[in-house]
Amino acid sequence: MQFIPSEFLAINRKERLYIPFQDLDVRPAFERVCDFDEVLISFDEDRARLEAARCIHCPDPAPCVQACPVHNDIPSAMWLIEEGRYLDAAALYRQTSSMPEICSRVCPHEQLCQGSCVRNKEEEPVLTGMLETFVVDYERATKGVSVPTQPKNGHRVAIVGAGPAGLSCAEQLLQKGYEVTLFDTKPSPGGLLTYGIPNFKLSKEVVFARWEDLERAGAKFVGNTYIGKDKTIDDLFAEGFEAVFVGVGAEIDASMKVEGEDLPGVYKATEYLIRANVDPAILPSELQGKPQIGEKVVVVGGGDTASDCLRSSLRLGAKEVTCVYRRTENEMPGGRKDRKLAREEGAKYMFLTQPVRFIAGEDGRIAAVECVRMELGEPDSSGRRRPIPVEGSNFTIEADTVVLALGYWPDEIVGKTTPGLETHKWGLIVADEATGATTRPGVFAGGDDVTGPNLVVTAVAAGRRAAQGIDEYLRNKQKTQPSLAV
Ligand SMILES: Cc1cc2nc3c(=O)[nH]c(=O)nc-3n(C[C@H](O)[C@H](O)[C@H](O)COP(=O)(O)OP(=O)(O)OC[C@H]3O[C@@H](n4cnc5c(N)ncnc54)[C@H](O)[C@@H]3O)c2cc1C
Repeated sequence: MQFIPSEFLAINRKERLYIPFQDLDVRPAFERVCDFDEVLISFDEDRARLEAARCIHCPDPAPCVQACPVHNDIPSAMWLIEEGRYLDAAALYRQTSSMPEICSRVCPHEQLCQGSCVRNKEEEPVLTGMLETFVVDYERATKGVSVPTQPKNGHRVAIVGAGPAGLSCAEQLLQKGYEVTLFDTKPSPGGLLTYGIPNFKLSKEVVFARWEDLERAGAKFVGNTYIGKDKTIDDLFAEGFEAVFVGVGAEIDASMKVEGEDLPGVYKATEYLIRANVDPAILPSELQGKPQIGEKVVVVGGGDTASDCLRSSLRLGAKEVTCVYRRTENEMPGGRKDRKLAREEGAKYMFLTQPVRFIAGEDGRIAAVECVRMELGEPDSSGRRRPIPVEGSNFTIEADTVVLALGYWPDEIVGKTTPGLETHKWGLIVADEATGATTRPGVFAGGDDVTGPNLVVTAVAAGRRAAQGIDEYLRNKQKTQPSLAV
């Protein structure tokens, strides 16, 4: 890789085209599979300034800003980084994003900001994601991060679910002076940031540092509390909360409904990832202990969760790790970057293959997977070509561990226990896109529990919009009931 000293700064758009691309640095595969630490190596100042100077500053509206679900002002941030004004760039990201240190690490940039970068047409896009990580990490290391707050307005909002949607809603409400309490089934906050996304993509330290920012700004967390079972949304109103945001995600693992799915050694993805990645100190007792894996692991599925399970298996010491997917690589929903990293680390892929039975060995544990070959037919409702089994093509693969990474469903309990809260057929909550308002006055919702499984950044955007919706709702309520001054 070519390095150029930081004095070399671009002057005009044409010169910017000649600045060399500063590729992502990752730890070597042989080293990174030995631990669960983050794999990407951050830019240093010289490389950050050079990479930022590759931005050619498209006229408004810049495609990268439009592609970003929270609409970060990326071109201005690039300009500030190029000038070495890292703290100003970090402050700019914090105006539009509630967790830039997290989104910059886990966003599928190739589908969002970087995917829309005009430099993509001829060469590599500007690495806007890594530059965002660089400046917000720089800010935390040099100045520290705090959530700007106003004097408390005396109004209380409950947030159900402390994932990225709930935390972002909390961050915005705290800034407006509300008292915010988050309730969650898990012992610690973070949702899938803590109990899902593996440490090698997102260190838990980054998540907890952001939570501590919110805690210092006054956020309260009540863990181990299952809303719908331990208490209901009506109970929260009775306790004096004036509005409730529901950000409970969509975290119920889908099942295959094939023989042998319940055999010992066949794991659901979430349990597998939690056991592999989360410190037992913040786990309920039934989820403590690493997964019991053997040498041959088969992961079923084609999304990001499947990549996470493959890469976690390699880190747990498996010798042969194979992803089985019923379509081809072209139809895989998971990101290319994660698949590339998984392959470098040793994962194998078997396409057009569908498990039809999980077979036990003499000890009663999983020993093999019976599969059938598939071929692609006409596109289905998702627009992807439908996989069709090839008759008589059955074969078996040896496996001492199987992980099912098949997708997620919402938990219907909040919908079922909250009168007046309308849900769709599959349990997703009906909510206004702009405000998060649901059909039950005072109850707002956003994130995966409204859209179905999506992204961290879309949950962040929804949480922020709902905070605005809640603020407007409580202000309007105050106009009719002046005793509720906001
Ligand atoms: C393994 C995995 C890897 C992923 N990788 C990425 C990635 O790399 N990049 C990316 O952008 N996205 C990724 N995603 C998707 C992303 O994590 C989600 O879209 C995002 O976390 C959704 O945020 P949320 O706040 O809506 O819900 P969640 O993060 O699911 O948080 C919901 C919270 O609500 C709590 N809860 C649920 N029910 C109740 C209840 N009844 N009472 C109280 N609390 C409740 C849960 O315990 C949880 O803490 C991944 C998802 C998974 C599963």
